[in-house]
Amino acid sequence: MVTVDSETHCWNWTGFLTNGYGKFNFNGKNTFAHRTAYELLVGPVADGLDLDHTCRNRACVNPAHLDPVTRSENIKRGLMQSTMSNPDTNPAVRLQQDGYRARRALAKLQVWSI
Ligand SMILES: [Zn+2]
Repeated sequence: MVTVDSETHCWNWTGFLTNGYGKFNFNGKNTFAHRTAYELLVGPVADGLDLDHTCRNRACVNPAHLDPVTRSENIKRGLMQSTMSNPDTNPAVRLQQDGYRARRALAKLQVWSI
């Protein structure tokens, strides 16, 4: 359900998309694929925060390309077409260096897909 783009390093969701975002059925609930990938690899996203796609690719589920931000910040960033987030402040970027955990998360996403 995920293909990795060797150029952008985006993990492109190949399953069902809603409004450009990957969606799948997880534990009987319809969830966003990028949010689940982030929570698996990095941790829970605080209430009220959105995950901003710093790569501006909505189908991407690479946690290193996701930055938890407030809704208004997310909209502002979308308008500004921001570039990649700072690896020093984004724990997911550091986590991506850990290929083993990343591969395990990808494997889980494939198992959970419908
Ligand atoms: Zn991406």
